[in-house]
Amino acid sequence: MNVPFEEMLAAICEKSKLPKEAVEEKVKAKMEQLSGLISKEGACHIIANELGVSLQEARQPGSVKLKDLKQGMRDIETAGAVTGTYDAKEFKRQDGSSGKVASILIADETGRARIVLWNDAVEKLKEATPGIVVKIQNPFIKQSQYGLELHHNSDTKLVFNPSDVTIASQAGASRKNISELAPGQIHEILGTVVQMFEPRYFEVCPSCGRRARLRESTYFCDSHGAVSPEYSYVLNCVIDDGTATIRGVFFSKQSDALLGMQHHQMLTFKEAPAGFQAVKDKMLGKIVKLAGRVSKNDMFDRLEFVAQSVDTEPSAEAELARLERSDA
Ligand SMILES: [Zn+2]
Repeated sequence: MNVPFEEMLAAICEKSKLPKEAVEEKVKAKMEQLSGLISKEGACHIIANELGVSLQEARQPGSVKLKDLKQGMRDIETAGAVTGTYDAKEFKRQDGSSGKVASILIADETGRARIVLWNDAVEKLKEATPGIVVKIQNPFIKQSQYGLELHHNSDTKLVFNPSDVTIASQAGASRKNISELAPGQIHEILGTVVQMFEPRYFEVCPSCGRRARLRESTYFCDSHGAVSPEYSYVLNCVIDDGTATIRGVFFSKQSDALLGMQHHQMLTFKEAPAGFQAVKDKMLGKIVKLAGRVSKNDMFDRLEFVAQSVDTEPSAEAELARLERSDA
């Protein structure tokens, strides 16, 4: 976790009650004393230590992996890919009033957790499409018999589709051969991209990101009414792991992760699809590790793998270790 110099400086000033100039002077003196062998940040740590102030709590709530979360931790930020949801249920409180509770299940590379939404917060469920990433700031953390719970309270903030987080894989998504996949399950596969199709574009609501549909001459979102739509996309490709092939379906975030591109770059192919050829050429033959949900496409009578997490650089060591384990 890297804390920018200015933040460290501000934290030292605040806690030591010294003016900024004085702290800067100390930092400079320390750097000179150590003849440039340390960074400004390193000097800050030493000064903080000398002044007896802790920089620990001054840290920005950097993102903590799910397996490292402990009951009672405060001011943390974590994230995961949505793997499922439990719909809102009403319950009666002791005083006779009623409340609502719903859950969002998430996973990151290290573990899984359940985000618990109470009362008005159950509305957030609408945005929790499986596969999208959600960032959680300041949840109340509880370890229950059912596992890790992140309770949404008045200080908690949920950000769906955050621009600064990607989840490369999901703990607990068991690896399967493509030939073994069955609908409705969440699994991990490792295979080669052998075919790729042009992205297809569709209109979405700028507020919630869900599909906006054309009625007469205006686009409508189910939650937000008439909207001026933005564009999202879905990319299909064929993945082959030697046992079988499957159609991989990548919605916007997953497409971006698969191709290593940004949203605005992807949108350029909407007007100029010819430009996509080079991207496609680069991707064919690439080995990817995907976690996602297997679904049946009734129209084409085939299974599809709806990618939730995309790792385009699966670790060779991890794959070798896996092979050795399965040989044993
Ligand atoms: Zn909307």
